[in-house]
Amino acid sequence: MFELNEEQKAIQKSVRDFAKNELAPKASYWDTHEEFPWGLVKEMAKMGLTGLRLPTGYGGVGADLTTTGIALEEVARYDHNCAIILCGSNITGRILLHGSEKMKQNYLPDIAKGRCILAFAAMESEAGSDVRAIQTIAKRVKNHYVVNGEKSMITFAEIANGFVLLVKTNGKSTEGISCIFIEANRSGIDIQRLQGFGWRATKWGNIALNDVQVPADHLIGEKNNALSMLKPTVQEQRALTGLIALGTARQALGEAVDYAKNRKVFGKLLGKFEAIQFKLVEDFTLLETARLTCFQALHLIEKNAKEASIWAAMANLIGGEFAYKAVNDAMDVYGGLGYSRELPIERYLRDIKAVQIASATLKMEIGQGILGKEFLPYA
Ligand SMILES: Cc1cc2nc3c(=O)[nH]c(=O)nc-3n(C[C@H](O)[C@H](O)[C@H](O)COP(=O)(O)OP(=O)(O)OC[C@H]3O[C@@H](n4cnc5c(N)ncnc54)[C@H](O)[C@@H]3O)c2cc1C
Repeated sequence: MFELNEEQKAIQKSVRDFAKNELAPKASYWDTHEEFPWGLVKEMAKMGLTGLRLPTGYGGVGADLTTTGIALEEVARYDHNCAIILCGSNITGRILLHGSEKMKQNYLPDIAKGRCILAFAAMESEAGSDVRAIQTIAKRVKNHYVVNGEKSMITFAEIANGFVLLVKTNGKSTEGISCIFIEANRSGIDIQRLQGFGWRATKWGNIALNDVQVPADHLIGEKNNALSMLKPTVQEQRALTGLIALGTARQALGEAVDYAKNRKVFGKLLGKFEAIQFKLVEDFTLLETARLTCFQALHLIEKNAKEASIWAAMANLIGGEFAYKAVNDAMDVYGGLGYSRELPIERYLRDIKAVQIASATLKMEIGQGILGKEFLPYA
């Protein structure tokens, strides 16, 4: 049976208290003003949250995946955007572990201290679900790479100190994809801010790269092998993002339950009507089921099990789907008040929609796991 140990319970409580007291009161401000909460990132760093998955030798905490999931879920209850920031810090930090020692020394301690945010940039305007279709090229010229291309819809694009970029390093061949680190202040980089429906504090945007010169030692991991190198990190990111969506949805459901216990309609409490009860009961059941799937996925990823890939995809898929359903139902329970900006329900809904969209291709991956690669020629 899945059970938290005493240490994990203590971490869950301290992160919950911190998020409730420090993050929740300001979450609406960052969303409305579309500002990146640097001050809160530093506070979260003091709690060790920005470096949970980074090794202690580089200033991190070295936490296991289950503990990381517990912490991010609690943060997401009170500020979804802060949980996305933490997920991003930990995931890009882990990708850098495949880089040079100098790169690790230069960036990992700063990520753990909340002084540095990196963006992971795979997507391009003509390559979203189909990552192998990317066109950004890194061409080796003596001891440098010269990078040309563009990246679209990248979280943290506007404020990131650097980018972890997927590039083609074997001409246009679909087999030649590599990962390269580029400092944000290199010449030839142009950022265009995008305004989103949700994740509004994350400074989303497009990145144009024109003749950007990058030292050859900025390549992360083996040349032409980025997709297989990134597999475990992508799995982590998927399962953790599923939990983040569920954390936000659990908060929305809790708020809707409280409202149903107090709001009177037709002379009775709203919660006395079975139509409302069934909605809340079904959502509670779906959220708990999805949550267990996420923790099972994290467990399998930690064990490097061969089923980890399919479970990570399922965790992300049902995390986003069930969370969206639960928050949408919570909005219905509140009626017109839920739709208004007086309450955070509409913000929860906008943020969770981003989880659904950003993981658009997961059904294909699960299909590949069940049917076999030969049934999905495009996968
Ligand atoms: C808020 C947000 C943040 C993001 N942050 C980042 C980031 O930090 N870094 C990054 O690299 N990317 C990021 N993305 C991009 C994200 O990864 C892509 O949006 C996602 O991969 C889908 O690609 P697309 O938008 O081009 O959709 P497309 O690939 O054009 O697909 C359009 C629609 O068609 C569906 N579809 C695609 N292929 C098939 C098929 N074979 N059969 C049936 N249906 C199909 C998709 O599910 C989708 O609904 C972000 C996106 C969002 C919304």
